[in-house]
Amino acid sequence: MFRVYLRELASGEVKRSIYFTAEDVDVEEMVGKGQAKVEIRKTGNTYSLKGTLSFKLRHQCARCLEEFEREYEEKMDYIFRRGSERMAREIRLKGEDLDTYYIIDDHIDLLPLFHDTILLAIPMKPLCREDCRGLCPVCGHNLNNGDCEHVKNREKEIDPRWAKLLEIKMEG
Ligand SMILES: [Zn+2]
Ligand SMILES: [Zn+2]
Repeated sequence: MFRVYLRELASGEVKRSIYFTAEDVDVEEMVGKGQAKVEIRKTGNTYSLKGTLSFKLRHQCARCLEEFEREYEEKMDYIFRRGSERMAREIRLKGEDLDTYYIIDDHIDLLPLFHDTILLAIPMKPLCREDCRGLCPVCGHNLNNGDCEHVKNREKEIDPRWAKLLEIKMEG
């Protein structure tokens, strides 16, 4: 299911719609089932793969530390060339040509592609929402659920010791 054999491509293009799980793609953050729609076409000596990958990830918000889920739909646009295992490894190590994958055997392996596409989509600092207010640096209260006494008092008088901390928290 996750392999497309070159002989299938001999006569033209292959279109596939495939479901996959977190275990299939080896991505812990994934929840539920993902779906891939791919079109693979032979063009001369190379094979081009285009498509979309839809999946849902669970993140922990970098500000308020709450867990949340987000849906993704990523475009895929890759080239496959025939090559050896050694060649594929060398190219990866050099970090060149990241959109090119190598066909080792008689088939195209889709799972490494899905894995890489998902990892690239994971944000460095996931936020439950753009304007997440984060946690109170004094008591740890989640400010998305309303102000705590520290925030309410902050406008009146800011203790200079906390002011610095608040600034740091706000930037995070
Ligand atoms: Zn948050
Ligand atoms: Zn507080």
